[in-house]
Amino acid sequence: MITGMKQLSLFPEENIDPRSPMRINWNLWHGCTKASTGCLHCYMYRRDESVGRDPSIVQKTDVFDLPVRILRSGKYKGLYKIPYGSHIDTCFSSDFFHPDADEWRDEAWAMMKERNDCTFFMITKRPERIAAHLPSDWGTAWKHVSIAVTCENQAMADKRLPIYLSLPLSVHSVMVEPMLTAVDLRPYIDRYRYPDGRPVIRHVSVGGESGTDARVCDFKWVEDIHSQCITNGISFYYHQTGARLIKDGKLYIIPRRLQHPQAHKAGLDTDGRRAKAAT
Ligand code: SF4
Repeated sequence: MITGMKQLSLFPEENIDPRSPMRINWNLWHGCTKASTGCLHCYMYRRDESVGRDPSIVQKTDVFDLPVRILRSGKYKGLYKIPYGSHIDTCFSSDFFHPDADEWRDEAWAMMKERNDCTFFMITKRPERIAAHLPSDWGTAWKHVSIAVTCENQAMADKRLPIYLSLPLSVHSVMVEPMLTAVDLRPYIDRYRYPDGRPVIRHVSVGGESGTDARVCDFKWVEDIHSQCITNGISFYYHQTGARLIKDGKLYIIPRRLQHPQAHKAGLDTDGRRAKAAT
């Protein structure tokens, strides 16, 4: 197990990290195999193939231990390299629950446990592997770790949501991206509720596909799922339009640089940001 120098004592006022929290990407392993049609134009595949690298080989990266690295010199010597309270987006060039990473996952959980002052966020297309690969002391959920699921079409929603929504997680977030069909979440909103009546799904994020071969996204699908969320008090985020958007029956080709701002201009976001851990 990797251990770092503890920067916080039981009496934090004696030992507060003076640096501001940051938002960090932590790609602890790289490479993946395609899980469903949403993976067809995976950006990681496109990027690796463009430089002659085999994207299907899952390998630990050289930043595997990033969250517990200690600064060895300078003003903040002895503190973690990543400041106290940071938000860490995890595993964006692989899938945290990919079977080829099974041998490294315990060590990854140990680092996340050590850095429970930070929040961690990951997205998976393999919710069927989560339950068997949570840490033994996960309990009802580590509050600082958030695991979202991707459902790019109705078939994947029907397959993945019954598994995902039954898992003990601090927050359940559904990413419909790339959105390839209309997606009806209502059966899962209605069936999976907390005792106080709130839906187990707390966040939904939607986006079209980007890239030269992008498949179309119809704005009607976006409006429909937005309406399902608003009706049920679920926060909604329209992440990006994608490269090919149909609106009012007309196809629009949207340049990459406009795909995010155009989505936000639609005014559908309820909290203006992507779901984060334990919110
Ligand atoms: S699961 Fe994610 S990283 Fe893996 S192939 Fe699919 S899109 Fe790419």
